[in-house]
Amino acid sequence: MNGGTRTNVLETDVLIVGGGVIGASIAYELAEAGVQTLLIDKDNLGSQSTRAGAGMLGAQVEMMNPGPMFELGVASRALFSNLREKLLEISGLDMELQTPGIFRVAVDEEDRQELLARQIWQREAGQRAEWYEDEDLRNILGDNIVGTTYGALYIPDDHQVRNNALLLALVASAKALGAKFLEHTAMTSFLTENGAVVGVQTQDGVIRANRVVLATGAWTGLLGQGLGLDIPVFPVKGQSFLLDSYAPPTPYTIFTHGCYILPKRNGQVYVGATEEASGFDTRPNLGSLAKLSTQAVHLMPSLASLPFAEPIAGLRPGSRDGLPVLGDVPGVPGLYLATGHFRNGVLLSAITGKVMRELLTGTETSVDLKPFALMR
Ligand SMILES: Cc1cc2nc3c(=O)[nH]c(=O)nc-3n(C[C@H](O)[C@H](O)[C@H](O)COP(=O)(O)OP(=O)(O)OC[C@H]3O[C@@H](n4cnc5c(N)ncnc54)[C@H](O)[C@@H]3O)c2cc1C
Repeated sequence: MNGGTRTNVLETDVLIVGGGVIGASIAYELAEAGVQTLLIDKDNLGSQSTRAGAGMLGAQVEMMNPGPMFELGVASRALFSNLREKLLEISGLDMELQTPGIFRVAVDEEDRQELLARQIWQREAGQRAEWYEDEDLRNILGDNIVGTTYGALYIPDDHQVRNNALLLALVASAKALGAKFLEHTAMTSFLTENGAVVGVQTQDGVIRANRVVLATGAWTGLLGQGLGLDIPVFPVKGQSFLLDSYAPPTPYTIFTHGCYILPKRNGQVYVGATEEASGFDTRPNLGSLAKLSTQAVHLMPSLASLPFAEPIAGLRPGSRDGLPVLGDVPGVPGLYLATGHFRNGVLLSAITGKVMRELLTGTETSVDLKPFALMR
């Protein structure tokens, strides 16, 4: 056994380490299944990537190719409407699901061809995707877009939520169903017995658990090193900003190369997002935000007059092949992973909670987890 130097000992059936949207979704699902669950986070719940994210449920707009990630995204997106109702009923909190759809605007001929090809394979996969030529786009978006576009792919079924609202609704519902949460409680090492994980050491003491789920986002690769594991998850910084507006310029999300604009239900406009490799530094910087704001104003000039509300930066949990890591850890009984959701953790939170519940309650998973296994 390593760790175990403090005397304070807690016990639980399932311990979830990490209280972002992924950990919170698993906690909610397990609590609903009647599993004794404790979740710990080193900071405030939802204060890392989850706080920074835009909240797009971009099952189609984010996917360049068919395959397991596309299928996982579509399966997760389909859960949100029902999940919203359930969380609202249990907690009284609304995740602020908005459903006008997303326009993916082409910026050049190459982009247009890629989007037209995407329309074909996504339709063949049974999804809705409509092509708008530049003139049709203008009829919908009015003066909000200037300059010539190369047309746009409209995805009516890609939605959005407000991340913080989703997180609060998941946590409040999980608590109402019996899950426990501890903030400002950092896991420092694993407790092991005969090669199995039997809990964790925190700065406040030991937590013993029958099963430990790592939902620690960008930090998971680092924590895995404590067991000699190569978990292929690392930070990919994203910077964005919020603008204040009582009347957002359009109800639609507008997404183009390197930049997207989301009108939020509280009147604010979210503009995102950069992708940068800069370690664990979460500070926004002027150069990245200047570039992003230039792109956004070029696409939608009316944004230029809106008051600046807040710069945002967060660490996406990137993975080497872009797929999340979901499931158990061969050779390490007691340890489970739910991480590496990169650009789509909010979208994938619903299905991740569901499959981890199935896995931890010994039920056949509703999705084949082989493409997402640690040893894939
Ligand atoms: C700018 C930006 C825009 C994005 N836009 C979208 C979008 O539109 N749609 C979408 O689906 N996704 C989006 N994402 C991605 C999405 O936000 C992430 O995939 C998702 O939040 C990951 O959730 P998580 O719970 O795995 O990670 P996090 O939210 O980072 O949570 C991990 C938690 O683990 C805790 N932790 C770490 N180490 C320890 C430890 N040792 N002990 C205890 N706790 C620990 C951290 O404090 C943290 O709270 C965006 C991300 C960014 C940065």
